Order: sequence, then C-alpha cells, then structure tokens
Amino acid sequence: VFREVLVMVTEASALERVLDLQSEDAAINRLGHRRETLEEAARLQELTATLEELDADLSIATKQRDEIARDQDRLEGAIAAGDAKIQREEHRLFSGAVSNPKELGALQAEVAMLKRQRAELEDKLLEVMVQRDGAMATLESLSEERARIGAEAAELGRKVEELTSAIDRELSEHKSRRDSIASDIPADLTSLYESIRDTKGGIGAAALEGDTCTGCHTKLPAREVERLRAEGGLQRCDNCRRILVVR
Ligand SMILES: [Zn+2]
Repeated sequence: VFREVLVMVTEASALERVLDLQSEDAAINRLGHRRETLEEAARLQELTATLEELDADLSIATKQRDEIARDQDRLEGAIAAGDAKIQREEHRLFSGAVSNPKELGALQAEVAMLKRQRAELEDKLLEVMVQRDGAMATLESLSEERARIGAEAAELGRKVEELTSAIDRELSEHKSRRDSIASDIPADLTSLYESIRDTKGGIGAAALEGDTCTGCHTKLPAREVERLRAEGGLQRCDNCRRILVVR
C-alpha cells in the first residue's frame, strides 16, 4: 500500500510537471511566432525593397544627367569653335585683306551661314540646359528620398534587432526552464506528451477544470469525470486524446 501511494504521488507530481512543460512549450511557441511575425520586420522588408528600387532609379537618373552633361559639353565646344571661326572670317572681312567683290560676297555668305549654325547650336544648348535642370531636380529628389528612407530603415533595423534579441533572451529563459522541467519527468511520459503535442496543434497535455478538458474545451460527461477523479494517474481526454491532468 505504501509503495502504491508513493508511485501515485510521484505520478501525480510528474503529471503536474507535464502541465508546466506544456506552459513552457506554449510560451516558446508564442515567442517563436512573435519573432517570425514582427510588424517592424515586415515594414523593414518593405523599406529595403523600396531602397533597392530607389537605387535603381538613382543609377538611371545619374546616367541621364551624365549623358546630358556630355551633350552640353559637346554643344558648348561646337559653339566655341564656331565663334572662333566667325571671328576669323569677320576679321578677314573687315581687315581689307579681301577686296574682290565676288570673294567678299562669298565671305559674307559664309559668315551669315556660320551665325545661323551658331544660333541653331545655341537653341539646342538651351534645350539641353532645360533637360539638365530637370535631370538635376529628379536626381536631387531621389537622393533626398533615398536618404530619408535609408535613415528610417536604419532606425527600424536597430528596433528589429532590439526586439529580436529581447525575444531571444526570453526564449532562452523558457528553454532552460523547459529543460529543467523535462528532467523531472520520466522519459516515456515526455515522449508520449511530445508525440501528442506534435499532432495536436502544439498542445499535448491539458488540465481538467471542473468537468471541462482545457485542451479541447469540451465538457466531459459526469460519469467520465467521476471515473477520472477516482482513478487518477495518467489519463487521456476521450474527446481530444490529449493527456488529461486531473488535480
Ligand atoms: Zn480534450
């Protein structure tokens, strides 16, 4: 009789420990889920994608600005060369070096043509300068947005790291508590609990509260509750088959 009582007591306290194990496992699951679904991490992912897009846009805008700058250089060079030529020809025209009227006429026509060319180049240059202003404005606004979102992402990154490491600290506390609880429970009881937990949505053991299984929240028939209370020991819920701990 003494031995039997001792076994029953041991079993009852082991079963209580299974409930403790269950509560640690539930906390570990909850924390793991929280770690995977941090709102801040999701937002950070969005920001990172936006930053990648902005970097691509910036690279395109930089290329465009450089292309426009090359156009501008080319046009300015052509205008300067045209100016030098006009100066040379006008010098010849007004120096008196050319006196033949036919030659003078040809020279005048040449200067007029050079001036028309110059005016065309200047029109093009003005267009390019307008384009350059647009390209610079685009580049500037993209850079500002990149800087603003970059700063937001950096801050959020720190926040995510803080939250994650706080969760990890909590997780490791629960895991070490779980290990210590598991060491109080016979191995076969632990493996029964674990195999039920694996197939029952993370809950392997539940307490009987009044006439209700807290695993499946089902009221058990009065006779069944009576039997459970009378028998004690390792029992399982008739409805959900989880380990049912009768206190
Ligand atoms: Zn149940």
